[in-house]
Amino acid sequence: MLRLTCPYCGVAAEETELAPGGEAHLARVGPEGNDDAFHAYLFERENPRGVHFERWRHAMGCGKWFHAARCTVTLEVFGTYPAQTTEPPAHIRAAITAKRPGWAWRGLS
Ligand SMILES: [Zn+2]
Repeated sequence: MLRLTCPYCGVAAEETELAPGGEAHLARVGPEGNDDAFHAYLFERENPRGVHFERWRHAMGCGKWFHAARCTVTLEVFGTYPAQTTEPPAHIRAAITAKRPGWAWRGLS
């Protein structure tokens, strides 16, 4: 079972206490965006085999949204962090690099 620690209240919540919110760090398309960019924002999602960044809500707890970095193959969790970040924090990226040398995501590693 997937277990994530809420970064706001510190509770290690089981999957049944959480609500999934899909891929994290999606960049919204503004009024200057074209149809292709808007289509990609609405429908195109990454589905990696390995390190992935996701949105979760502590639905049966504090109710706040947060981000989680985990491996989709092993369900290993590298860390959770507040949703008000535009990219994974350095300590999360370091934790991933320690266990998955050579990983990369959208130019970050
Ligand atoms: Zn919480």
